[in-house]
Amino acid sequence: MNTRVVELLKDEAGFYNGVRAVKDGEEVLIETELIIGADGRYSTVRKKAEIGVTIRKHGFDLLWARIPAPDDWEPSIRMALIEGKQLSLFTQAQGFIQIGWNIEEGSFPQLRKQPFTPFIDQLIEAFPQLEGTVHHHIQSWKDFVLLDVYSSTSESWGKNGVALIGDAVHTMTPTGAFGLNSALKDADFLASLIDKNYISQLNYLECANARKREVEKLQEIQVEKEQSFASNFVVVV
Ligand SMILES: Cc1cc2nc3c(=O)[nH]c(=O)nc-3n(C[C@H](O)[C@H](O)[C@H](O)COP(=O)(O)OP(=O)(O)OC[C@H]3O[C@@H](n4cnc5c(N)ncnc54)[C@H](O)[C@@H]3O)c2cc1C
Repeated sequence: MNTRVVELLKDEAGFYNGVRAVKDGEEVLIETELIIGADGRYSTVRKKAEIGVTIRKHGFDLLWARIPAPDDWEPSIRMALIEGKQLSLFTQAQGFIQIGWNIEEGSFPQLRKQPFTPFIDQLIEAFPQLEGTVHHHIQSWKDFVLLDVYSSTSESWGKNGVALIGDAVHTMTPTGAFGLNSALKDADFLASLIDKNYISQLNYLECANARKREVEKLQEIQVEKEQSFASNFVVVV
């Protein structure tokens, strides 16, 4: 824990055989026969192994905030459509609600120049039960974190002693909550391929062949869900 990979180490043949990392501020070298890049959407391992990535923007960014749930909050996922944009509330452990509010891609710098109160009032209007906790915990634009939403595919799932799994090799958007399970399934499949006596012979293509199609299908479903979300609402005139 508290150890961040900053560089990959290579042998003379160009095979990756370890990492340089920073642990609690101190540099450490870790030798290994196999580096598994499970380091998420901004994967250092993928970048350092020079594995190319294709990024697909989804037309929206996300404002993200966490508030304590009121005592009488029923654990559930709730959604609203506000001016054509999806607002989602996810009940989290230890009595919190995670708010994810879609905004147009790249619009935050402009949005945050507008007065905050009319914006947040839309949330309260959709979920009046949250009025007290929202007023207390989300008082300005600064109380939201901006998350840029995109998905990606990589040109390869591994090479020369590096294997990639999860968001490091195929970044998922939040839609449909497929990302965590996809990463776990990659890990499970990769583990089944690893024979500790023959690590250098690990066939990365097998992992790609087994998982790539399913992941790409899920990424397509994410796009479809994002595009069809508004049509699931009944418009009351
Ligand atoms: C806003 C948002 C909400 C989402 N909500 C959901 C959801 O509700 N359900 C769902 O299934 N999916 C959701 N997703 C997608 C999901 O988060 C990812 O698909 C999933 O987390 C991928 O898992 P992972 O283990 O590959 O990467 P991550 O969960 O990103 O884990 C990567 C880990 O690597 C570590 N790391 C990064 N760099 C280094 C380094 N240099 N050295 C060492 N460690 C490093 C990080 O600290 C982190 O612990 C969401 C995504 C976004 C952007």
